[in-house]
Amino acid sequence: MSGPAVLQLRGVVKAYGGPRVLDGVNLDVHEGEVLALIGPSGSGKSTLVRCAHQLEAIDAGAIYLDGELLGFRHRGTRLVPLGAAEVARQRGRIGMVFQQFNLFPHMTVLENLTLGPLSVRGEAREAATAHAVELLDRVGLKAKAAAYPRHLSGGQQQRVAIARALAMRPRLMLFDEPTSALDPELVGEVLAVVTDLAKQGMTMVVVTHEMAFAREAAHRVVFMERGCIVEQGAARQVFGAPSTERLQAFLHHSL
Ligand code: ADP
Ligand code: MG
Repeated sequence: MSGPAVLQLRGVVKAYGGPRVLDGVNLDVHEGEVLALIGPSGSGKSTLVRCAHQLEAIDAGAIYLDGELLGFRHRGTRLVPLGAAEVARQRGRIGMVFQQFNLFPHMTVLENLTLGPLSVRGEAREAATAHAVELLDRVGLKAKAAAYPRHLSGGQQQRVAIARALAMRPRLMLFDEPTSALDPELVGEVLAVVTDLAKQGMTMVVVTHEMAFAREAAHRVVFMERGCIVEQGAARQVFGAPSTERLQAFLHHSL
């Protein structure tokens, strides 16, 4: 992938008061690239994407979106934290999908999709609604626009969550194990939506345990362990000829 870098992590360090959970991570995600982030439980995958979405503050290093520093701005030689409105604006350019779907239970599917565009992006209701219906159609759930989340299956709820993230017209999508909470028979329909997005050129970071999905949909696979990127490369290289013992051991237990 040789497009411009959309997301850049530079020496990112994060600790939750104890040992480093991210230990100086450097990573570039390029326009149109689909990056699968794999690694054992506790290796820092969720922390990495949560830091990129500014749900966690980093302790050192820097994260850039389209070259813009996230969370801080330069004042002379100092860095000062951005205010809440600026952080919200930056966050609005990144769509995030969690393991737990996190839909608003008291809102219909359509309202879940239009809330952000109306309140954060200031879109007109008619335009926001039309876009929401188009996205629901894309994830195969146009007929569910008036339903409440509790009346949907887990797979349907996760597809709504993806459509809701897309409603904000994000520059980048982050997925944190989007199928881990689903019954096995519902995994495929969600991965199909993610794969479809990938084919349409969306820039994405997907934390996943689905190695078959990573192998087929990802342009690049990044393996993390103990807060560090240990190995990365094209899927066929990472899965076919892992060069570190740690990745070999991980794959041995995951495949
Ligand atoms: P992964 O997603 O790869 O399983 P995480 O990023 O969730 O890893 O966690 C990395 C490490 O950070 C783990 O040791 C975990 O216990 C710790 N951790 C994650 N979130 C918190 C938190 N909010 N407070 C304290 N420790 C945390
Ligand atoms: Mg995690």
